[in-house]
Amino acid sequence: LSDRLSGIFDGLTKRGALSEKDVNEALREVRRALLEADVALEVVRAFVEQVRARAVGVEVLKSVSPGQQVIKIVHDELVAVLGSDAQTIDLASVPPVPILMVGLQGSGKTTTTAKIAKRLTEREKKKVLMASLDTRRPAAMEQLRVLGEQLEVPTLPIVEGQSAVQIARRAMDAARLGGHDVVLLDTAGRTTVDEALMSETAEIEAVAKPHEVLLVVDALTGQDAVNTARAFDERLDVTGIVLTRVDGDGRGGAALAMRAVTGKPIKLIGTGEKTDALEEFHPQRIAGRILGQGDIVSLVEKAAQDIDQEKAAKMAKRMQKGAFDLNDLKEQMQQMQKLGGMGGLMGMMPGIGKMKKQIDQAGIDDKAITRQIAIIQSMTPKERAKPDLLKASRKKRIAAGSGMQVADVNKLLKMHRQMADMMKAMGKKKGGMLGNLFGG
Ligand code: GDP
Ligand code: MG
Repeated sequence: LSDRLSGIFDGLTKRGALSEKDVNEALREVRRALLEADVALEVVRAFVEQVRARAVGVEVLKSVSPGQQVIKIVHDELVAVLGSDAQTIDLASVPPVPILMVGLQGSGKTTTTAKIAKRLTEREKKKVLMASLDTRRPAAMEQLRVLGEQLEVPTLPIVEGQSAVQIARRAMDAARLGGHDVVLLDTAGRTTVDEALMSETAEIEAVAKPHEVLLVVDALTGQDAVNTARAFDERLDVTGIVLTRVDGDGRGGAALAMRAVTGKPIKLIGTGEKTDALEEFHPQRIAGRILGQGDIVSLVEKAAQDIDQEKAAKMAKRMQKGAFDLNDLKEQMQQMQKLGGMGGLMGMMPGIGKMKKQIDQAGIDDKAITRQIAIIQSMTPKERAKPDLLKASRKKRIAAGSGMQVADVNKLLKMHRQMADMMKAMGKKKGGMLGNLFGG
């Protein structure tokens, strides 16, 4: 997915202006890339529509660099879908706070139970009790007991022959008596969602009244994970999702799908088999990963100030050849405005300080630049390319068209001539400074 998207955006970046057709084309690629990453079709469809709604006609078309603008829109939308803030387990309730772990067999419930117990014990200094309600697999209770021993977190003593609901009750009683802050209830899973599993889990929920119901899902199961999430969410009051095996999911697509389908926050992610391989979920990071561009956010934030390097390089070449017409001047003034006016330009391009005298003489300030652009825009393409054509009658027409005086037109032409001469001279010398200035 990463390579794929990078490729798309390279293509966009190299294109000059981005049309509506371009947006659609790009989104078709985004769509395909997401599908290849195993994100469910309905999720992809909804996501792409969301991006399209934001992208078409607005930011993209008037952007400095269309490719970056599209990246930003896709990125922002990803973050919005994934949830804009990192979420953690909510313990704000009367202790012992019950937390119910649910999910399919093998999704990582028992491992995650131990990871959370470790985290709450060590970081938040909570007194935690773990209890296995998995009566189906004889080894399951033993697995949790061993983990508890390793982590020095108490587990509810195993009593043979009790039902899951009975164990849940016993766990709550024990926690109350023992003064525990948190009770982690690890449940049994099946290989598929079935009625027996759902009704048993619902019964446990009714008895334990958990403050959090954490659905544990394997990031690697793709479409299945989404179906599982939906089935659990319909029957239980799921409060959050823990995505496991994220260490094996380079694409991050599962997080997007999970979040979009259930609307539930992803609270934690499992990144390995060890008990400390548990991390908070950062939407920004996952969004970056899905897009495959690590520095995407900073890149995009700079986009507004970006000058189009390719255009600039072309212009520098023209200038060195002495071909600096009014179109070039206009383009340059517009670049200046994008860069934050004269102040911004001076700050960013030390070389331009050498031109300061001419610029001051010509009376270029930020307001003047806007007026001068208006004058140039009132000229025909021929006039812009060949300023020599501009005799009195044409000047009058242009002044009227831009709401200025003929004197203003003359002033602009004089400035242009001076700049063109100076650039020609510098271009002959070597063009080093021009290279710095406009070639980047
Ligand atoms: P349960 O049936 O839902 O209780 O699943 P388990 O907790 O027993 O985990 C099943 C397997 O997945 C075990 O071998 C775990 O070590 C492994 N596992 C769990 N979480 C992760 C994870 O985040 N990353 C990796 N790589 N393996 C995990
Ligand atoms: Mg288990």
